[in-house]
Amino acid sequence: MLFTNGAGGECGCRFLLVRKRDSPDAPHMLKLKHLAALCFFLSATLEIARADVLIVADEFPAMEVMADKLKSEEHINTKIISQANLPASLAPFQAVIVYIHRELSEKSETAFIDYTKAGGRLVVLHHSISAGKRKNPHWFPFLGVSLPEGDVSSGGYKWIEGVTLSLVNLNPAHFIMTNKVSYPDSISYVSTNAPSHDGRLPGFTLTNSEVYLNHVHTGRHTRLMGLQYMDVKTGVTYMQATAGWTKPAGKGLIVYLMPGHRKEDFENPAYARIVLNAVIYQP
Ligand SMILES: [Zn+2]
Repeated sequence: MLFTNGAGGECGCRFLLVRKRDSPDAPHMLKLKHLAALCFFLSATLEIARADVLIVADEFPAMEVMADKLKSEEHINTKIISQANLPASLAPFQAVIVYIHRELSEKSETAFIDYTKAGGRLVVLHHSISAGKRKNPHWFPFLGVSLPEGDVSSGGYKWIEGVTLSLVNLNPAHFIMTNKVSYPDSISYVSTNAPSHDGRLPGFTLTNSEVYLNHVHTGRHTRLMGLQYMDVKTGVTYMQATAGWTKPAGKGLIVYLMPGHRKEDFENPAYARIVLNAVIYQP
């Protein structure tokens, strides 16, 4: 019998295990199998340790787009993992990007909060704020956000997908919204839930994306980006200053950016640059 463990990879372990038929060396083979498994584990651990930025996700193609851009534009190494593979400590990472659509585990919730409060940069994307996380006891209070129940016309939270959505720069003095960002559009915008910015603002437009209406801020946030969305069914145009913000937490900083429904959102040059800026921003 001849097999290789296939676990060469980053740690450089390579085995060619050879066993003659009916040989009595089963315990020895078992040890080698354990060694191969250990090598696998060390490979994965080393790969995570070499990353500068950790991306924790449950939908991966969109984050692969961002990982490629972080590498090509900022020479930043990333590792994309699921919540199940969260390392014991997030402290070594320059930033942690959260892109979690489904349930946020209690373990991840605690790890993200502790990491940020200890001085980390937490970049929270798109559906990492979603209705399913209402049941997490600490996540929304930490972010300073609530998603009210009820009809959208009376302030209730609502998500609508398959929409055209425009985003505007509400903070033209902020690094995240300006560093190497080129805005292709000039968008008419008057905020309905924040101090007004009259007139037109530089921005960009995403198609076949998803909008979140009536995010409510319960804490103090530095607003970065506003959304403009026209509901074709009702004819109502929403302009809300909740599509991008920063908020300090302990010694660290949270950055939330609402767009990101599909990987194409991250392929938009203006938006991709804003996400990169969120990672590298030094307050
Ligand atoms: Zn979405």
